[in-house]
Order: sequence, then C-alpha cells, then structure tokens
Amino acid sequence: MYDPKSPHADDFIDHGEVMETLAYGEANKHNEALIDEILAKARLRKGLTHKEAIVLLDCDLEEKNQEMFALAEQIKKDFYGNRIVMFAPLYLSNYCVNGCVYCPYHAKNKHIARKKLTQEEIRREVIALQDMGHKRLALETGEDPVHNPIEYVLESIDTIYGIKHKNGAIRRVNVNIAATTVENYRKLKDAGIGTYILFQETYHKESYLKLHPTGPKHDYDYHTEAMDRAQMGGIDDVGCGVLFGLELYRYEFAGLLMHAEHLEAVFGVGPHTISVPRIRRADDIDPDTFDNGIDDDTFAKIVACIRIAVPYTGMIVSTRESQKTRERVLHLGISQISGGSKTSVGGYYEPEPEEECSAQFDVSDNRTLDQVVNWLMGMGYIPSFCTACYREGRTGDRFMSLCKSGQIQNCCHPNALMTLKEYLMDYASEDTRRIGEVLIEREIGNIPKEKVQQIVRERLIQIESGIRDFRF
Ligand code: SF4
Ligand code: SF4
Repeated sequence: MYDPKSPHADDFIDHGEVMETLAYGEANKHNEALIDEILAKARLRKGLTHKEAIVLLDCDLEEKNQEMFALAEQIKKDFYGNRIVMFAPLYLSNYCVNGCVYCPYHAKNKHIARKKLTQEEIRREVIALQDMGHKRLALETGEDPVHNPIEYVLESIDTIYGIKHKNGAIRRVNVNIAATTVENYRKLKDAGIGTYILFQETYHKESYLKLHPTGPKHDYDYHTEAMDRAQMGGIDDVGCGVLFGLELYRYEFAGLLMHAEHLEAVFGVGPHTISVPRIRRADDIDPDTFDNGIDDDTFAKIVACIRIAVPYTGMIVSTRESQKTRERVLHLGISQISGGSKTSVGGYYEPEPEEECSAQFDVSDNRTLDQVVNWLMGMGYIPSFCTACYREGRTGDRFMSLCKSGQIQNCCHPNALMTLKEYLMDYASEDTRRIGEVLIEREIGNIPKEKVQQIVRERLIQIESGIRDFRF
C-alpha cells in the first residue's frame, strides 16, 4: 500500500503506485490542458509530485516540450545562476563481495586488477588531486567487510582532510559506500563527511533482485531504506541516483521522485543531490547486453523534468558523459560536474597500464580539469570550488530553507568567484587564468548586495597576496 511516510521500501516505492503513475502519464501525454496546468504549477518553483512530473516526461507535444526545456533552464538560472560546482571521484578500493551484473567490480570478475590504496597511496592520490585544483571529493569503494571495513573508510577520510600540500586542501569529502548501519552512518557523520551518496541502481524490485544476485546488496529493502538510516545517523545531506539503462527509464524516474517525496515527508528534507548516470562500457561489461539504454534526447528530457520537479536539489553528471552531452544538460539543470576524473584505483598519481585496468567504467570526457574549467568559462559558466555550506553548518533543512528563500545566491555567487580566483592563482594555465580574471571582474557586478561586492573585492586582493579559504 503506497505510503510516503512509511519506513518500509515496499510502501514508499510501492510497485502498484509506480504502475498507476506510468499509466497516468501514458493516458495524459497529449492532454494539453493538464500539461498547461502542471507547467503553471511548475512555474511557482515549488516542485511537482511524481504523478505530475511523469505527465511532463511522457508529453510528446513538441511545443509543450520546448516550454518545458525553457522552464528547466530558467529554474536552473534562478536557483543556481551560472555556477557549476566541481568535484572528482577518488576510488579507494575495488574489492567487492557483491554480484552486480552491470559493474566490473563484481566478485566473480577474476580478470580485473584488484587494488586497495594504503594510507600512503591515498596521500599520493590526494596530493595529485590537490595539484589539479580539486577541493571536493567523492570517495568510492566496493563493499567488502574484510578489505574495506568502515574503519578503513574512516581512517582514509581522516588522512584526506589532514593533507595540506602547498595551498591545496580537500575541504569536503562526500562518500559513496554501500548501504550500512545507523551506527556506521553516525561514524561517517562524526568523521565530517559532506553528502552520503548511494545510487539505488533500479527501483524495480524484481529487476533489482536479478541484477544483484549475490552478496549483501541483494537485499533490496536494506538498500532502499539506507537513506533513512543515514538520516537517523545524523547525515542530513543524502544523494540519490539510479543507473539509467538497467530498467525502463519511466519506472526509474517515478521511483526516484517517490524516494525524494518519502525523504521530504519523513525527514522534512529531500535529497541534497540527484545523480543521473547512464550505464557505460567497462571491463567485463557490455552495455549493449542491457536492453533499456536511453538515447541523448530522452536523457536530456529526464534531466529537464527532474530539474522542474525538484528545483532545490543539486544535479550531478559525471565523466561517464561526453563533452557534448554534458554541454547540453548543463543548460537544463545540472549543477555539479566532475572534471579530470580517473575511475581506477590509484589513477591520479600514476596512470595504470592497460593490462592492469582497475577502472569502474570507461570515461567519456577525458579532458583535464584545466580544460574543463576553461571550457565552462568559455560558455559563460563560473566553475566553483565552493564547499562552504557544510563547513558553515548549512546542511539538511537549514540548507534547504536558505535555498528556498533565494538567499543562497548571496553565498554561492561570491564563494564561486573567490574559489575560482584561488584556482586561477594556484593551478590554472595561462589561458585559463586570463579568461577567468575577465569573468570574475564581470561577475562581481552580479552579486546582489553591494556590501558583499565590496567584501569580495577586498578578499580577491587578499587571495592574490596568498591568503586562502574565504567563504560566506
Ligand atoms: Fe560492488 Fe558497487 Fe560494483 Fe556492485 S556496483 S559490484 S556493490 S562496486
Ligand atoms: Fe554549494 Fe553552499 Fe557553496 Fe552554494 S554556498 S555552492 S550551496 S556549498
């Protein structure tokens, strides 16, 4: 029985409710009056229900779809301006006891190189990441209680936060590890993590059980209820996502929004971020064996509809996507991207020989961070290395209420400019620095409060003289 407030996965992702939602979308895909009504509600920027959002996703009236894309772009501009937050993944270990059939780290894959970084190797990786200019990481590990126990993850977080190399510092560590206990989430919270990220992979229970035939991840309920336990452990910024290509995208879309509604109903705050990965080629994995792959147009529409349905939620796209695709979806709602990523264990310090591949997937965007930063600025975006919110205690509902009031603009924009300035001073190529300086000068005028503009000007001068880590 569908109940968004229930603690049970089968209730808040009720299969019957998803099927009804899909039928509702299908029945109304030409219903212009209803689509107009939903678009009018969406313009209030307070979000949509999963049932309303599916009607937009299914709509095949060209004119309405164009309205939808324009609205998504406008909402993106209203809440995120032209800023794009930068991050990089850091793979700690690819040992895994699970049997996920779409991931090369599955336990039965005997030809992938298995690696686990020592604390010294983590230092080398983090210094390499700092030397690129990164300030925000997403930690990744397989699930393996022997090789990657929680103590290893906690020690690694401690190591990462402790590395101060030249002007570099990792200021926010987000964590993407397997579903775990409330007690372990509390330990992660105490270790100072930013967001806890866990992809659902698929919300379709029957498919989920087949796609995860062995290992602890086989337990659909335990996995699906992980965000609730994370919240109970004190982590109020959680990041959701599905792996598009495993199941029918309409099912995943409805499930994702129902999950967001559940978190909002129970904890008063929806997901901090939503990621939209698509399945990619990797060692032992041929994406063509999965029937549900989505084309670029569908992908763009999903991004636009999520943007409209949950306007306050950050949206992430990784280097799984090509430069071209990333460019397209940046306009439609993406607020965070990775750059210069390595998806292998230890790949930042030393590129690994091909015969020793330990990567989770093939990267489609192979550019360096400097190239990505340069490219973003060339399109008028401000690459931001900001990590201010959680360091200022603006997490969970405190973050969301600030965001909903529109006041976050007075933090994000100046923070983006100051962290970009740090990047330009410490890491950028000459060309990137030149473009960036012009951009910063132009964008200072777009800070809403004059007083804040003045403070930013003073701080930019201080950054030039070597002082770091200013934030609002
Ligand atoms: Fe392990 Fe995660 Fe890969 Fe599954 S998706 S095999 S849990 S690393
Ligand atoms: Fe993100 Fe907060 Fe920085 Fe804005 S001020 S970019 S919301 S961390």
